[in-house]
Amino acid sequence: KQRVTVIGGGLAGTECAYQLARRGVPVVLREMKPHKRSPAHKSDALAELVCSNSLRSDNPESAIGLLHAELRALGSVVLSAADANRVPAGDALAVERDGFSGAITQSLLSHPGVELVAGEVERLPDEGPVVIASGPLTSDALTRELERHVGTKLYFYDAIAPILSADSIDMNVAFRQSRYGKGGGDDYLNLPMTKDEYHRFIAELKAGQKVVPHAFEEPKYFEGCLPIEVMAERGDDTLAYGPMKPVGLRDPRTGQDPYAVVQLRMEDVGGTSWNMVGFQTRLTWGEQKRIFANFIPGLQQAEFLRMGQIHRNTFIDSPRLLSKDLSLKTEPRLYFAGQVSGVEGYVESAACGYLVALALHAKLTGTEWVPPPATTAMGALLRHVTGEAHPPDYPHQPSNIIFGIFPPITGRMKKAEKRAAYSARAKQDLAAWLPHAGVPAAGSPEHRE
Ligand code: FAD
Repeated sequence: KQRVTVIGGGLAGTECAYQLARRGVPVVLREMKPHKRSPAHKSDALAELVCSNSLRSDNPESAIGLLHAELRALGSVVLSAADANRVPAGDALAVERDGFSGAITQSLLSHPGVELVAGEVERLPDEGPVVIASGPLTSDALTRELERHVGTKLYFYDAIAPILSADSIDMNVAFRQSRYGKGGGDDYLNLPMTKDEYHRFIAELKAGQKVVPHAFEEPKYFEGCLPIEVMAERGDDTLAYGPMKPVGLRDPRTGQDPYAVVQLRMEDVGGTSWNMVGFQTRLTWGEQKRIFANFIPGLQQAEFLRMGQIHRNTFIDSPRLLSKDLSLKTEPRLYFAGQVSGVEGYVESAACGYLVALALHAKLTGTEWVPPPATTAMGALLRHVTGEAHPPDYPHQPSNIIFGIFPPITGRMKKAEKRAAYSARAKQDLAAWLPHAGVPAAGSPEHRE
């Protein structure tokens, strides 16, 4: 069979390579690490989680939880590694990041159908099928090469949150609790603020020095991942209704509801490091240390294991450039998977890699590509990337999986009932479609986990 080149061993590339290989299609997986790294990638492993260690809600009545369930049913290597490396985080599927990436790396390295070739890809191979899964931080040389193929500029900006060392957080101030006692009830650390403390913090945040983008760069942020200072500029209370909202939390020491909180989520099973939830920022590193330590109660002695950062986000205008099978209209041997195709998020990127594997497998085997129904989370993501979920002139932007990109369920219903209805419809339609996915049966020659 023809070999497929997959460029990028991230969330999308590993899932795509694995799903092709386990269906008998040989793959060359080309990953630039360890020779070269993006500013956010640190480890040598494949499928690195560059920011949060959370794959978000695992509740199947949320859109992302539904996507988890579908990927599990499809035998996703990413979901299986996540389940095997889970750490407590309420109803979220959070993972111990090295164990997670290590498990995926091992699955690929041990598969006879996958050859891993290290080194930056600067030019696309001249022939054969190619999957571009080089992610939001595609290297500059490859970005220029892709721009030549698609004919447009390919980037915008968003930002990542800091990580703190546990033993540097003042536990006389922080209290452990999940909102409304979800999950174990105490998976998060909360730093409570009074109204005065909150407003002093906001004033500092607004005045703080920010990293200025280069003159030629126009910062365009993804709405779901706005830097805190950009939110603060929209109104002094925007953060208190956003990532710093106190709802469902009560300080057990005072019995009071805080005016605002900074929530910290566990980064590793041992709870030695904690992520500042929703605190992506482009404050300079010096200003982050000064403002967070002096104006967030409990962080006076904070040790920052990673600072918040600004980062580029590379993606193509998929609805106009790609066919329904995610191949480039003008060069159908080229496929796009993951964030570069305009999905947002770890799990969404893996799901998109899976979709490309299915479409490409169908093409290589001369069979009909039967996409997942639009009513499933997998199908809804595909609808978003190909533009079917949006009006024709809608400007394409990376999106997380949300019920808003599913075909609507109309009629008056309570929110929870509607979510349950989306979930039930998806479950039924996925089951009917599943045989088209050709998931190798356990025990078959192509089945290797
Ligand atoms: P990646 O996982 O980034 O994989 C791309 C791979 O391609 C990398 O391993 C890279 O080294 C390699 N590569 C790049 N260029 C080349 C080249 N020329 N040759 C060979 N290899 C190359 N999503 C979340 O759900 N939660 C978060 O907290 C989150 N935080 C983020 C923080 C940052 C800084 C960024 C940039 C993104 C974040 N995202 C987050 C969004 C995004 O969904 C994830 O980055 C996700 O990993 C994207 O998957 P991917 O497979 O498309 O890209």
